[in-house]
Amino acid sequence: MSLDEIRTRLRAAESAAGRPEGSVELIAVSKVQPLPRIEAVLEAGHRLFGENRVQEAAGKWPELRARHEGVAVHLLGPLQTNKARQALDLFEAIHSLDRPKLARTLARLAQEEGRCPELFVQVNTGEEEQKAGILPAEADAFIAECRAMDLPVRGLMCIPPVEEEAALHFALLAKIAARNGLEGLSMGMSADFEKAVAFGATHVRVGSAIFGARTTEG
Ligand SMILES: *Cc1c(COP(=O)(O)O)cnc(C)c1O
Repeated sequence: MSLDEIRTRLRAAESAAGRPEGSVELIAVSKVQPLPRIEAVLEAGHRLFGENRVQEAAGKWPELRARHEGVAVHLLGPLQTNKARQALDLFEAIHSLDRPKLARTLARLAQEEGRCPELFVQVNTGEEEQKAGILPAEADAFIAECRAMDLPVRGLMCIPPVEEEAALHFALLAKIAARNGLEGLSMGMSADFEKAVAFGATHVRVGSAIFGARTTEG
């Protein structure tokens, strides 16, 4: 388990970017990882985790939360509207707000329940057909729409195309966030989180570098 190493690298990246120590949140992405590995990271004192699927998170986190205090779990993967209510109960933040219909559903549920997880709007910075997210050209209007519905938009999230230079996508996401007055930037994974910190990431999502390789895709 290389949580310590990743923490050290993250602190070094913050320092290199001239940012205060601890200014970047490390989300340990525990999707499809065996429970003993997750327990080990909890035992080491880590409390912030990321999951890709509502069902999978519902199957393990209520029990893990009962045994470990102060846990927060963020949803990183696509959210179907029929699972939105369950997501509201399971997650402290949702990083995959990617379409108007989901925004309307979350707004209605937030009204009913009187609370809502923090939200990150997922931007499809590479304009990839198969990838979820709001297109860069439509981001400003969508963010405004979410705010008009009183949704707690904390920031933006992106998953750069694998074959492209991630820095261009991090820079684009940071630019869209800045012009919309958004402080949160969820970007950077195992292979490129230090680069993301240099471009202003506030939340890095690191899975395999902490837990080891996944045997199946999450
Ligand atoms: C799986 C996943 C990660 C973590 O990926 P690693 O390369 O294992 O660090 C981060 N973000 C999202 C959205 C993911 O699905």
